[in-house]
Amino acid sequence: MPLADYRQYLAMDRLPSIWCPGCGNGVALKALALALAELEIPPDKTLLANGIGCSGRVGDYVRCHRFHGTHGRTLAFVTGIKLVRPEIKAVCLLGDGDCSAIGMSHFIHTARRNVDIATIVVNNFNYGMTGGQFSPLSPHNVITSTSRSGKAEPDIDMCRLADLAGANYVSRTTIYHVVEMKNFIKEALGKKGFSFVEIISPCPTYYARYNEIGDVIKQLEWMKDKFVPIENYNQMKDAEKENFSWRGRLTDRDLPDLLSAYTRE
Ligand code: SF4
Repeated sequence: MPLADYRQYLAMDRLPSIWCPGCGNGVALKALALALAELEIPPDKTLLANGIGCSGRVGDYVRCHRFHGTHGRTLAFVTGIKLVRPEIKAVCLLGDGDCSAIGMSHFIHTARRNVDIATIVVNNFNYGMTGGQFSPLSPHNVITSTSRSGKAEPDIDMCRLADLAGANYVSRTTIYHVVEMKNFIKEALGKKGFSFVEIISPCPTYYARYNEIGDVIKQLEWMKDKFVPIENYNQMKDAEKENFSWRGRLTDRDLPDLLSAYTRE
């Protein structure tokens, strides 16, 4: 099989996956496999680490080094792995609940330390695996199984947080924008230091159903319309911004990563 074939990263014999029809996790996984193939990163030099939740099942469908972390702690484990095996290309694929709730402090400090990890958060705005409870990334006022009258709390922008904490690369896209998604993952994989890609993803079973977004086609249309290029978003007046969110590349810089800082002369 030629190295550029994305299927070499996937456990094809274990497909189809366990994810619900219309879920975005499989789309994100294929985009990751395509990005790895285009960069010709060998599977035996690739680590895919994941956390707990629906996205955490990605480890079941790959053929490369794998690690399944305890809830929220995956980035801390992979920091250790990278310090002893720096030649490994480390990818953490996490869910919004895993990364932004229990894992929030690890996220901030891994970005602050600029550890050489490509981190992908598949953000479906809820804890799908446990029944659709709200996560810190569920938008204000949305309906979830634990906010039947609308979520009272505000959400948090993990991209801006990663940028502030010191990440070298930050971008956001959606499952609708598949080519952009693959390209952003590729950019993150090619960057030395902490890189972060947020992928907005449909959860038809809970989030979309509770919020009456409609079938999967409607959910993709919602992503297409709501997530506008960051250049357009920045031109909007504040009142208009309330109806939209941005997608695009927020951060691209080359600060020294943690291991380089440790080993400098
Ligand atoms: S519950 Fe939601 S996130 Fe989980 S597999 Fe089903 S659609 Fe995907």
